[in-house]
Amino acid sequence: MSTRPPTTPPTSGPSFRELGLPPATLANLDQLGYVAMTPIQAASLPLALAGHDLVAQAKTGSGKTAAFGLVLLANLKPDARGAQALVLCPTRELAEQVSTEIRRLARAGENVKVLVLTGGAPIRPQLSSLEHGAHVVVGTPGRVLDHLRRGSLDLGALATLVLDEADRMLDMGFLNDVLDVVERCPKTRQTLLFSATYPDGVVELGRRFLRAPKEVKLLEQHAATKIRQRFYAVADEERLDVVVRLLEHYRPERTLAFCNTKEVCRGLAQKLVARGIEALALHGDLEQRERDQVLVQFVNRSCSVLVATDVAARGLDIAELDAVVNVEVTPDPEVHVHRIGRTGRVDREGWAFSLASERERHRVSRIEELQKAPIAWHPVSELTRASNKPLVPPMTTLQILGGRKEKIRAGDVLGALTRGAGLSATHVGKITVNAYATYVAVDRSSVKAAMRELTTKGVKGRAVKARTLPATDE
Ligand code: ADP
Ligand code: MG
Repeated sequence: MSTRPPTTPPTSGPSFRELGLPPATLANLDQLGYVAMTPIQAASLPLALAGHDLVAQAKTGSGKTAAFGLVLLANLKPDARGAQALVLCPTRELAEQVSTEIRRLARAGENVKVLVLTGGAPIRPQLSSLEHGAHVVVGTPGRVLDHLRRGSLDLGALATLVLDEADRMLDMGFLNDVLDVVERCPKTRQTLLFSATYPDGVVELGRRFLRAPKEVKLLEQHAATKIRQRFYAVADEERLDVVVRLLEHYRPERTLAFCNTKEVCRGLAQKLVARGIEALALHGDLEQRERDQVLVQFVNRSCSVLVATDVAARGLDIAELDAVVNVEVTPDPEVHVHRIGRTGRVDREGWAFSLASERERHRVSRIEELQKAPIAWHPVSELTRASNKPLVPPMTTLQILGGRKEKIRAGDVLGALTRGAGLSATHVGKITVNAYATYVAVDRSSVKAAMRELTTKGVKGRAVKARTLPATDE
């Protein structure tokens, strides 16, 4: 299970060519490797490109960003001034992900400026970027509202409003801010609402702000064959130990473990680390910088297990998970379906393990009802240690203190490690350059050589401060 080919996107299915998009856009989609539309794109793009408002529901990772990104780009008028599209997202990470995808989709057109406006970031640079103008604004409700109140953001020319991850924005208490922002948008506009689940609050939002919306719901029961689901009956006090046994038995390279509360998250991460398994917890109490570091390490393959609450994990685009573990059964069967849908994407097989104690049995019955298939119970005794080798991730993350502000680019770091330290390019993984820090994944066998090069010769001839993550000194 440790080596898997990368996820291949859908290669069959309806083509983007049926949409009447400009040839340059189609060529760009080809370049991105978007050969066929995903189901949510096939269901929503024809309606939305025809100008309809839309309420769309589909699970995470189904390609919703392009489903609205192509529409807001098609609505842009090159000569108009002021923001023409606004995308509201619940968190900074999601806003960053959405802006990255929109920039990729926009490469076909001329110079579309996409600006991210999120809280937690200093306001001054945002003010000067706004003065230079942006066609597309992607932001969190609070910060967008802040700019609207200051008058630094003008939505007079807005053509498209997108509410992305609407359910989560409501979960996070943004209802009033969202209402306030929407009220400041021009009445003639196209509104697209995307959500992974469809609770009453989202229904209500749709009723209030959308004009005769078309509804697109893709509640597909995942490709059941690709997700191998197993349930284990546990006693509450052995739960965390059974997680360790599961990992040692199946040895998945990358696992997302869901807990219902952040206390259980913390406890499990501590337990795994104590057993020599690289695990990190992601929950609502982390500062933004800590969240960024946790995600960087998980995405670049230097952390085996990400332990998360549903709220913290929702909407993150983490491809290529080998396993999902439901450390506790969630009370909401639909949430269960979303959790396990994180694995077994596209052409990969994935494991979904669930631990259920006696008092969680009624929750399991509800899942059985929803998925219309019986649960496969397995005995905990089948979980034996598959190997004496420790379960370690292939990479380690090095953090370089210095980023875009110091003019560090990914190519410089790659150059230092390959030319300077003599690492083979296959031993250097993902390089992430933030404003003030750079993260590079290196093969575990190359950590010493890489650290020596960075701290003595450095990047572009300047020695840098570097350390391995997770940092133990803070
Ligand atoms: P969602 O918002 O539904 O969670 P995303 O928009 O983040 O999903 O898309 C998930 C991943 O799928 C992204 O990496 C994106 O680049 C990729 N993707 C989207 N549409 C296609 C497509 N038609 N073909 C191949 N890959 C796609
Ligand atoms: Mg999304």
